[in-house]
Amino acid sequence: MLETLRNIVQEVNSAESLDDALSIIVRRVRDAMKTEVCSVYMRDSSSGRYIFQATEGLNREQIGVASLAAGDGLVGLVAEREEPVNLENAENHPSFQFLPDLGEEQFHAFLGVPIIHQRDVLGVLVVQQTHQRRFDESDEAFLVTMSAQLAGVIAHAQVTGTVHQDLRAGEGAPAKINGVPGAPGIAIGTAVVVSPIADLYAVPQRQAEDRRHELRAFGEALQSVRKDIQAVADNLGSELNPEDHALFDVYLGILDDSAIGVEVIRRIKGGQWAQGALSQVMIEHIRHFERMEHSYLKERAVDVKDLGTRVLAYLQAEDIEERSYPDQTIMVGEELTASSLGEIPREKLVGLISVRGSGNSHVAILARAMGVPTVMGAVDLPYTRLQDREVIIDGYNGTVHLNPLPAVKQRFQEVLDQDRALTRDLESLRDLPCETLDGHRMPLWVNTGLMADVTRSLEQGAEGVGLYRTEVPFLLRDRFPSEEEQRQIYRNQLEAFAPRPVTMRTLDIGGDKALSYFPIEEDNPFLGWRGIRVTLDHPEIFLAQIRAMIKANEGLGNLRIMLPMVCNISELEEALELIHRSHRELLQEGISGELPPIGVMVEVPAAVYQARAMAKRVDFMSVGSNDLTQYLLAVDRNNARVADLYHSLHPAVLQALVAVAEASRAEDVPIGICGELAGDPEGAVLLLAMGYDILSMNATSLPKVKKALRNVHLSEARDLLKEVMLLDKADDIHQRLQQFLSEHGMQQFIHNPLD
Ligand code: PEP
Ligand code: MG
Repeated sequence: MLETLRNIVQEVNSAESLDDALSIIVRRVRDAMKTEVCSVYMRDSSSGRYIFQATEGLNREQIGVASLAAGDGLVGLVAEREEPVNLENAENHPSFQFLPDLGEEQFHAFLGVPIIHQRDVLGVLVVQQTHQRRFDESDEAFLVTMSAQLAGVIAHAQVTGTVHQDLRAGEGAPAKINGVPGAPGIAIGTAVVVSPIADLYAVPQRQAEDRRHELRAFGEALQSVRKDIQAVADNLGSELNPEDHALFDVYLGILDDSAIGVEVIRRIKGGQWAQGALSQVMIEHIRHFERMEHSYLKERAVDVKDLGTRVLAYLQAEDIEERSYPDQTIMVGEELTASSLGEIPREKLVGLISVRGSGNSHVAILARAMGVPTVMGAVDLPYTRLQDREVIIDGYNGTVHLNPLPAVKQRFQEVLDQDRALTRDLESLRDLPCETLDGHRMPLWVNTGLMADVTRSLEQGAEGVGLYRTEVPFLLRDRFPSEEEQRQIYRNQLEAFAPRPVTMRTLDIGGDKALSYFPIEEDNPFLGWRGIRVTLDHPEIFLAQIRAMIKANEGLGNLRIMLPMVCNISELEEALELIHRSHRELLQEGISGELPPIGVMVEVPAAVYQARAMAKRVDFMSVGSNDLTQYLLAVDRNNARVADLYHSLHPAVLQALVAVAEASRAEDVPIGICGELAGDPEGAVLLLAMGYDILSMNATSLPKVKKALRNVHLSEARDLLKEVMLLDKADDIHQRLQQFLSEHGMQQFIHNPLD
């Protein structure tokens, strides 16, 4: 059964349009369940009716014609109840409604299951049979499983259909794809699809600009792979027995197979670019081999894939050398990474869309720092087909819009213009202090990582750096930077901000931050080897970093060192001991300077409960609310599927924030926060009231937070905090805070969906 299920899903996955997908479903499900009828009714979002959309066994002429209102008939009942309806004799059921011309009179047995995607009923999948029988439990279980697996594919096909139709007809229906907010702001621009290196399944589909050039590139790539394989075969020649050698002949045979080459060339001549033509032909061949019964032949799918990938790698290498980008580029990819941000010149990059990841992924954090509107987790986006298409992204609400109606596009343009005006307006605050109406000063610091953040931060009037993510320069290299290289990087940061304090966090890798040259592969990376756990296990890495920091601080004295992911006192003591030792050794080596202040991040629940014990041992504390929220709520910060459960204003998170502030105050140790909550005007007002001493945020958020805090009284914020601490739900807290902001003239910080 599992095999059948997998095959059907795979076949549906490759459908070009929603209609294709549905026809495959009804045909394959009817065969698999050995029943007489299988049909799909899809919900029409404008009328709310369930339209008879595909069938095997009923009257096809009624496709797109027959429909049922929500709640009407058995189909409506399945949709309304959101659960299966299994009947021996459908006509006897009170909800049964006869649809003329469908031809279902002779079918008595009925089994219908809802198709639900992200809590939305997309449609109903029905099987029917002439003789009166109850479909048994295993039939029901099969259909439910099928429908659950297909829901995502159907949702995807709905959007793909729109895009495809658009490509053929020059225009298409508007489509809105939901993701999650990554970085605030609106962007209107042209999609540039970046694909992971040599992934046949992620090649953007686009037309060839110059067919002769594409043909030549394909021929050269083929030739290069042929040479590579021949070279490997020659090198290994004497070590291989004749059977092994035959394998290389098979490889070369596949490359020489005129069927593959000819088909790719035919598609290029038909207008496709070489990479797209290659990926389509190769995927078809891979599928063909995978479907074979014989295991030896099935295995050949792997060889075909490997060869296709090699040819693609050559084509991509050539393409990268030549690529140019449109002025308003929106970068789109399956999983954008921090390093992929560097691929497109900054002045041309206006937005980012990542199919995977969520608002707390590190690429989103960097995008916020750079002020690039971003949507993450747009899982239903047929991203490979978006190349060169006009796209709108709404980074406030996490949505992507294709083919918007002129009025909708106009509204987005207006918000974009208002945002620009607001930015200009906020620039005037640059040299003003962040001070509440009743005179309370709140230092606003910044989070940095890239050198580009420095200028931006200083322009925004940052008073210090609350978090310098040292892993960023590590991520952008292909090996660990040496102690001297690190010293120079850290020196640049310290000098740029001196005499303002710069808080350098020791290497925080693991989780979603993998170094290509130090891979950490784990089933549960966020609960695994990350942050201080890695560096304590590798004192050579930790010590080199500490030495580089202390050396860089010589003559400046504005360094602070901060430790990430600490979850027990022993880790803290061990790290402190290593830092003290490094400092002593450097003094002996003749490097002058005081021991810098050392702080700890509170970002796991254990640290909240041990905040006082930690505070006793350090000079400052800083809450990492991004991780703290993820661990308190048990919600993976990168997983778009649970992104709507990641509430930074969850009552449990607020209680933890209050507890940490109280613990630090009891030990007279300053408390800051460097998670994203600090950069949110709603969060900032509450943190002010909780008694946080420093708010550290991305540079882009700083002017907004300054504006928000300059508009309130500390006393009002305290009253507000008292009020929201009595609320039990994050949504209620969020609404109350929005109301508070608009009562204080800050409607411009509230962004509700525009369509
Ligand atoms: C945090 O977890 O809140 C934090 C600031 O660290 P990072 O986002 O780099 O994990
Ligand atoms: Mg963290």
